Amino acid sequence: MPANVQNPAALQGDGLGCHSGRDQMLAAAQSAGKSETLAQYAKDYPLPEGAGPHDQPQSMCPAFGSLRVGLRMRRTATILSGSACCVYGLTFTSHFYGARRTVGYVPFNSESLVTGKLFEDIREAVFQQADPALYDAVVIINLCVPTASGVPLQLLPKDINGVRIIGIDVPGFGVPTHAEAKDVLAGAMLKFARGEAETGPVAAPRGGISDKPTVTLLGEMFPADPVGIGMLLAPMGLAAGPVVPTREWRELYSALDCAAVAAIHPFYTASVREFEAAGRPIVASAPVGYDGTEAWLQSVGQACNVGQAQIDAAKNQWLPAIKGALSRMPIKGRVTVSGYEGSELLVARLLIESGADVPYVGSACPKTPWSAPDLAWLQARGVHVQYRASLEQDIAAVREFKPDLAIGTTPVVQAAKQAAIPALYFTNLISARPLMGPAGAGSLAQVVNAAIANKARFDTMREFFGDTGQGDRAGVWESKPVLRPEFRAETKRQVIKLMKKRKAEEMI
Ligand code: SF4
Repeated sequence: MPANVQNPAALQGDGLGCHSGRDQMLAAAQSAGKSETLAQYAKDYPLPEGAGPHDQPQSMCPAFGSLRVGLRMRRTATILSGSACCVYGLTFTSHFYGARRTVGYVPFNSESLVTGKLFEDIREAVFQQADPALYDAVVIINLCVPTASGVPLQLLPKDINGVRIIGIDVPGFGVPTHAEAKDVLAGAMLKFARGEAETGPVAAPRGGISDKPTVTLLGEMFPADPVGIGMLLAPMGLAAGPVVPTREWRELYSALDCAAVAAIHPFYTASVREFEAAGRPIVASAPVGYDGTEAWLQSVGQACNVGQAQIDAAKNQWLPAIKGALSRMPIKGRVTVSGYEGSELLVARLLIESGADVPYVGSACPKTPWSAPDLAWLQARGVHVQYRASLEQDIAAVREFKPDLAIGTTPVVQAAKQAAIPALYFTNLISARPLMGPAGAGSLAQVVNAAIANKARFDTMREFFGDTGQGDRAGVWESKPVLRPEFRAETKRQVIKLMKKRKAEEMI
């Protein structure tokens, strides 16, 4: 049997995908030669022990993370291989977030998947795209069905006319969140670049090589944050290096060529593996608030062998400014925080240092050593930190703690607003602000205080609308609905009967 014959079992059943059939997809992928990749993902992106098919955070299609990283890089073509509905959704979301780049797509049908023609089509597409005048790299992403059926991207050439070919599997049943999917691609690129750097000279950074030792920053952040971090580092004779995921291939070399790596976002497990293989120390947490910045400057200084006097000079220069900014912009009120960006713990720290009462932080990302200082800091203040938080857990926290403001994902925000609790969307309104150093210290207060002050408007609206449109009053009615209590009683009787029957069957 040729190596590229796929597993037709992946297409059995109707409409397998992220909404159903996770276990079948996983089993199909394992029997189709993807067990090594999936075992690595299970190690890198662990789910809680005993997790069932639905026990993973509800977030958008994970592949969006990889796609976004590819689309944001210069001279990089990104191609998807997957079901048309998945590709439609991913393309739509990319353009919604302003990709302004073409998303490549190799379509398939049952026949091309089962006969192995899909792999040949991918190969052809990659050769067509690999023009060194236009591209440094071509990224090809296997979505759920091609991964489950074992489309062997590893058999693609590593290099075509000097254009790197990066093939990755990013199935929803193997990579739990889109955050971690960013790491899948960033890690694959770092691995490739490390191999190149080990075997010969590589391109210098566009802006020239830094004359100071640099600290690579792991995690996408607000554009002003790397600049602010550079200022924090300057008194220690250090400079901020590239942000990973990088915006261009050659930045990968300078990212690897650093004195230390700051794991600002804590879920980049595969990327960290590459940095560790290159002998770089990794620093946990981030310079948020007074305590966070103090501890981070100390850790970074030590990791880069900076003398204590210089570390203290950096602290003396920046910590009073942070304290001042925090006290000028206090936050008063109870706030719950949940999100899937990986920076939730950092945001909670900043809110607490600004004066907020934060009883709950939920993150869709897993527990890793790089958020350990934040976890310890938050737990010492009685905060419940929930890694791999589900939507149900996030909403339950809002119900239990009745905050003055709920920061969360779209459905959490929706549930909070329905309960007349002011709410802010984490990704668009919190991630889109500086969080680090003095610039971050007061930056959340304005938006958070304005949202908390909106409570009265929610109460007025709730009073005005009452229970209109709630529950079975939802929808458009042309005349006043007639209540039929006898129908309800009958349905209830039927349901109870059915449940009893099921119970009896279980006992047999
Ligand atoms: S590729 Fe994404 S959208 Fe498609 S089935 Fe998998 S997780 Fe769902």
